[in-house]
Amino acid sequence: MNPMDRKNTMTAKATHYRGGRIFTAAEPAWAESMIVEDSQLTYVGDTVTADALTRDADIVELDGAFVLPGFIDAHTHLLMMGQSLQKVDLQSAVDLAGIQDRIGRFAADNPTAPRILGRSWLFPALGGRPPTRQMIDAVEADRPVYLDSNDVHSVWVNSAALHELGIDDHTPDPLGGRIERDPATGHATGMLYETAVTQIVWPALAKVVTDHERDVALAAAFERYLADGVTGAVDMALGADEVAALERALAAGGGTLPLRVAGHWLITRTDSTEENVRQVREAATYAQRLQGPWLRMAGIKIIIDGVIDSCTATMKEPYSDGTNAEPIWDLESLAPVVTAADAAGLQVAMHAIGDEASEIGLTALEKAIAANGIRPRRHRMEHLETITKDNVQRLAQLGVVASMQPVHADPAIQENWRAVLGDHRVERAYPWPEMTSAGAVLALGSDAPTAPHPPLPNMYVATTRKSAIDPTLPPNLPEYALPMADALAHATRDAAYSCCWDDLTGQLVAGKAADFVVLDGNPFTDGAGSLLTSRVGLTVVAGRIRHRTTPRPL
Ligand SMILES: [Zn+2]
Repeated sequence: MNPMDRKNTMTAKATHYRGGRIFTAAEPAWAESMIVEDSQLTYVGDTVTADALTRDADIVELDGAFVLPGFIDAHTHLLMMGQSLQKVDLQSAVDLAGIQDRIGRFAADNPTAPRILGRSWLFPALGGRPPTRQMIDAVEADRPVYLDSNDVHSVWVNSAALHELGIDDHTPDPLGGRIERDPATGHATGMLYETAVTQIVWPALAKVVTDHERDVALAAAFERYLADGVTGAVDMALGADEVAALERALAAGGGTLPLRVAGHWLITRTDSTEENVRQVREAATYAQRLQGPWLRMAGIKIIIDGVIDSCTATMKEPYSDGTNAEPIWDLESLAPVVTAADAAGLQVAMHAIGDEASEIGLTALEKAIAANGIRPRRHRMEHLETITKDNVQRLAQLGVVASMQPVHADPAIQENWRAVLGDHRVERAYPWPEMTSAGAVLALGSDAPTAPHPPLPNMYVATTRKSAIDPTLPPNLPEYALPMADALAHATRDAAYSCCWDDLTGQLVAGKAADFVVLDGNPFTDGAGSLLTSRVGLTVVAGRIRHRTTPRPL
């Protein structure tokens, strides 16, 4: 803790943040001054009134700087994000040689690392060839190599990793997943999809990660988020290891975390409804214990299908190559789990990317509502990349929060996405404004580490449908761009709503937490392009300065 922070936590004195351009994400939308007492905003409005209220306060002159509520990443994976910061970044590799070169260099630079982990490689880099273990063996044959695809729904491994995982020619595919095999020889190729990742690779790697390494990764994720203006996050795949790491961080922070974390307990599909429902009860037990303003177990997460890029999302009509994917959860297995969670008062978050997957999820919710009757509920669906028009209406009528990630629509990563669908369906890709037009709440997030976590480039894609990676590319269906004020509110106010923290945070109004961000640019006056160059000057969580860029802007 630096001395500045200590002063801020120990004084009960008010702080007057004075003379800014403050976007409140509430009505009225703009203010000039905020008074912070302890962890809360006690006044938000004009500077003349604030001056009169605070003769004795500490003054922070904003000098016209742009202020907005702290971003809340409505869908992320904190520990994975922290861990991914240490993996070889392969996203910029445009071909196999580029991927091999990066792995080879990392291997040479880290001669004692027991295994090599990489991330964010893109299918188009292989120019249509299927990834094979031999391609990696060519640069690293001795140590296991695990390479997460950009969407984190598949892992490409070398022969040593297959051996470490205990996968041989006779290992059966897990339910809802695939161990890719050479059609001629039957040998595993080194590509593992969906539950072969979540049920084979992740548990195997989790066993070799120490608690200390998890703590370091989580701290790194927190630090990055705070530096980028994020004051809250909804973690979308908590298991026992993740919760334990969060609780250690909570204890270390004396009952606080560096930023607020709500989370969903990941339910693993088994072929036993009894076992699936037992996992819901496990989540409910956590939810009874973890209901604070810093750490909240919000509910459960269910991954109904996969992703478009690897043709594992479940579509109503086949992909351009004639294939389609079975859902990981069909309606029969899903409905009892959703009904049990709904009855337990848990929020259900369902990953549904294919248009058939969102249909299955909505039908399961209707069954749960029919079984449990009228009660308070706030369920949500994640991604919704290809949802049908009819199901947008259904989703809104059911009060389901649409949780979507603008960065997934970045034009720089659309080539394969559009090619594998290959027809009119690509013209309704990521239709964010349709959700709000239908009356649904739209909450924006990043799904880090499947996409970059910083919210400002994410808001650039949201408001322009242009690429934050290469802004010269043509926009991706610009008719779906969101107005600036709407996009920022979806990433703050509505993200807070998505995890039932709307009474606590997400708007700059008196009575809510002093969670806010000061930028050195103003996208309303400087244009959306400034989101790619603006820096976060100050990140304040519960009244406490958690990140400051030095020297100025503040
Ligand atoms: Zn996710």
